Amino acid sequence: MEQRYVFDLLPAEWKEAAEAYGEKGFRGKQIFGWLAKGAELPEMSNVPKRLREVLMEDYEWHLPEVVIEQTSETDGTKKCLLEFPDGSRVESVFMKYHYGNSICISSQVGCRMGCTFCASTRKGLVRSLSGGEMLAEVLAMCKLTKEEINHVVIMGIGEPFDNYESLSRFLQLIHAPEGYNLSLRNITVSTCGLLPEIAQFAEDFPQVNLAVSLHAPNDEIRRRTMPIARKYPYEQLMDTCRAYTEKTGRRITFEYAMIAGVNDGDEHARELAELLGGWLTHVNLIPLNEVEGTGYAKAKEDRIRSFSRILEHAGVAVTVRRTLGSDIDAACGQLRLR
Ligand code: SAH
Repeated sequence: MEQRYVFDLLPAEWKEAAEAYGEKGFRGKQIFGWLAKGAELPEMSNVPKRLREVLMEDYEWHLPEVVIEQTSETDGTKKCLLEFPDGSRVESVFMKYHYGNSICISSQVGCRMGCTFCASTRKGLVRSLSGGEMLAEVLAMCKLTKEEINHVVIMGIGEPFDNYESLSRFLQLIHAPEGYNLSLRNITVSTCGLLPEIAQFAEDFPQVNLAVSLHAPNDEIRRRTMPIARKYPYEQLMDTCRAYTEKTGRRITFEYAMIAGVNDGDEHARELAELLGGWLTHVNLIPLNEVEGTGYAKAKEDRIRSFSRILEHAGVAVTVRRTLGSDIDAACGQLRLR
């Protein structure tokens, strides 16, 4: 029998699981609370020993192991390669900001979206993570850093909307008051633009922040770098994003990786400004992380400045992503690629 992962169970399922072993339901909820604090089964002193023993037997309960750990000398950013009990490896990054600690987690082992500038998709998709595995990334990083985590961004390896059910379970797990109890407003999900899931997300989790990887001011350029653009044309993407904003009243963040000679011209900035003017949006310009073998180079600094100025003048909210941990900087996914 395949073992279930302890981190996958929601409080109501813990209640049932405990009862199935002939214990009181609240015992299960106690375990859920302990797990969120990073405790291991043997440490759960107020849980009957017999229950702990059967759970050790019947469930997989190990957090992922830290295989590689890189720490920035300048700002304390920690980038880790984590290995799950089945040998699958993903990356998580811990960052300190003035408003609190933030962690960037992966949602899949590899990715099948095929964006041409991205390292995470080079070897395709191995498998999706479960919601509990995503939670376990957060807990493993808390344990490693001995710090509390106040913000979670799902912007590591993988396409979260290509794994919607697990994403949904993860959000329920980390938000549950019996456990980690993280506010949904402190979570951001980033998608390359899967339209049915964007619409579903507006229904299911309107409080969670949404970021959409745009990376182009028009369909022609977007199709060159993002295969998903061939499935969902630019105009449909914009319609879906507008509908999202109307339904939720929330601002979408558009991520825009600046690639030299591809999407970083003043004319591209003007085209984007035209498109986004008067909308409740926010553009996040990201200097491209150069990935070996892609043939793309990072846009020059004066390009980024000029691009951002044009957006600003048009009244579009724009920020340039601050690079944390620049001394350990490798594009997302490169630890795993190695
Ligand atoms: N699959 C999701 C989330 C993972 S990627 C998505 O596409 O949004 C997180 C962000 O990093 C995305 O905006 C992605 O396009 C961007 N990204 C990927 N490779 C990059 C690179 N080499 N340089 C800069 N940003 C990159």
